[in-house]
Amino acid sequence: MYGRYGSDTLNLALLIAGLVIAFIAQLVRFWPLTLISYALYIYAIFRMMSRNVQARQKEYYSFLKVWTPVQKWFRIRKTAFRERKQYKYFKCPGCHQQLRAPRGRGKILVTCQRCHKQFNQKT
Ligand SMILES: [Zn+2]
Repeated sequence: MYGRYGSDTLNLALLIAGLVIAFIAQLVRFWPLTLISYALYIYAIFRMMSRNVQARQKEYYSFLKVWTPVQKWFRIRKTAFRERKQYKYFKCPGCHQQLRAPRGRGKILVTCQRCHKQFNQKT
């Protein structure tokens, strides 16, 4: 593997997408979907074996531009679910920043840290 690009999160995503598409192809019995899953596997192997590290990194950064906000969205939902008994999560009406306040304080006046907009929020 010396001089080769190796693996990254994009390769993992390609393999998972390939597996999901192959599974769907089996469910709906539509063979062209199987070809798409094979194409994804071949592309993942090609990326792993590629010596053009710069091009593979460029692809990876393009992938991260899409993947990072998705990952952030899921992380916030997970944290909000874990802390659902202690904190109320809501968005600022001005800038849509995700905010939280301790539960059980009734109606409170919230000042957004980002845009300094003040609004009432029931907790
Ligand atoms: Zn705000």
